[in-house]
Amino acid sequence: MDCIFCKIANKELDTQVVFENDQVLAFEDVNPQAPTHILVIPKKHIPNIQEMKLEDQQLLLPEIFQAIQQIADDKELEKGYRVVNNCKDSGGQTVNHLHFHLLGGRVMQWPPG
Ligand code: 5GP
Ligand code: ZN
Repeated sequence: MDCIFCKIANKELDTQVVFENDQVLAFEDVNPQAPTHILVIPKKHIPNIQEMKLEDQQLLLPEIFQAIQQIADDKELEKGYRVVNNCKDSGGQTVNHLHFHLLGGRVMQWPPG
């Protein structure tokens, strides 16, 4: 399977890792949309939220959101931040390995494009 985020999770590609545990990896987005733009992924290949099985949800979503809290503390985002998941084509997903964007360091606008 040719998945760029699996390659990052397997350390086959050089990436700026900011958080890691057994289940989760977080790294700097290559094309940042805010002063802080981190991608938080499960190491396991899951294509998107819609294809996430209940057992993976129960194991991985708490891990992912604990990582997000930890990174937000580390990056001193006490004023706030945004978490984004783009799901499938109409949601704007371009990499088909589940990931959450953590964006911060500036005031976010709403609605998103
Ligand atoms: P999506 O559009 O799927 O929600 O987000 C994919 C994100 O992955 C984009 O923000 C894009 O900049 C980022 N991205 C794509 N390829 C790479 C890569 O090879 N390395 C890193 N660090 N980020 C990537
Ligand atoms: Zn993958």
